[in-house]
Amino acid sequence: MKIAILSNGTGNYSTKRLVEVARARGHEVEVVKYRDCYASIEKSNPTVSYRGEDLGQYDAVIPRIAAYMTRYGTAIVRQLEMQGVYSVSSSLAIVRSRDKLRSMQVLAKAGVGIPKTVVSRNSTDIDDLIDKLGGTPVIIKLARGTHGNGVVLAESKKAAKSVLQAFYLTNEDGTNVLLQEFIKESAGTDIRAFVVGGRVVASMQRKSLDDDFRSNLHKGGEGTPIKLTDEERKTAVKAAKALGLNIAGVDLMRSERGPLVLEVNASPGFGVEKVTGRDVATAVIEYVEMNAKRRNKKDKVGA
Ligand code: ADP
Repeated sequence: MKIAILSNGTGNYSTKRLVEVARARGHEVEVVKYRDCYASIEKSNPTVSYRGEDLGQYDAVIPRIAAYMTRYGTAIVRQLEMQGVYSVSSSLAIVRSRDKLRSMQVLAKAGVGIPKTVVSRNSTDIDDLIDKLGGTPVIIKLARGTHGNGVVLAESKKAAKSVLQAFYLTNEDGTNVLLQEFIKESAGTDIRAFVVGGRVVASMQRKSLDDDFRSNLHKGGEGTPIKLTDEERKTAVKAAKALGLNIAGVDLMRSERGPLVLEVNASPGFGVEKVTGRDVATAVIEYVEMNAKRRNKKDKVGA
């Protein structure tokens, strides 16, 4: 098969692993920097080009779109879908997962446990909002933050109010700010479940190394392998499915009322391989092999 990995980070671990595994399994594979792709939008003839080459000839693409380039990256994926190229993650699912408010709404509707969340355009009703969440402390987060940046723990109503006011200053659109109940039972730890095609293929627990309540590895958190309970596994799979993601990194927290999903990542890093010894890259390529063939046989057009 001809596989394109859409990634701007040609040298990063996840990209390198995908290339290595795909080559070993006999595929022709190229890393395509989507930031250098261009789309030609024309009646009945959508094309995507990269260094003069038409990407429509690929059998499958694996998008690894960075959060900061979601709009451009997903526009390229969408155009490829319109050309009939199989994309393991759909442009729609990637866009959906990048917005925390939208994801929370979709997950809640699908019956997936999430921390209680409220959204408001101003801080005048702060007392009521905090009461709805069961009191302080509360978490305040930007809907499009990544790596734990833009996630704040407010210990008191006063603190919450001033943080909210500061966030609203730079976010006229109130949908960018979420208030969330603080899950204190597992402060400083969370679980990353790597889901491929409706199965958890690897999972790890992340712990912050200092007294930070955020456990993100980018913030200095540490990962250890963890065995999930049945309920946690089912929750992770259900969350990925609700957002329409075949490949997903589902972040969840253990709480007194069961697993709660914080976020579903559309381009999860493969660092979990180093922590768990599981071969995630092979699971991804196997999934692509099975599904690209099936879809290409069935239907060449449409997105
Ligand atoms: P990001 O997408 O920026 O990583 P997250 O929503 O995943 O943002 O939050 C970052 C970290 O903050 C999580 O990994 C978790 O450790 C902590 N955290 C987030 N939400 C809560 C919450 N409601 N209660 C307790 N801790 C939280």
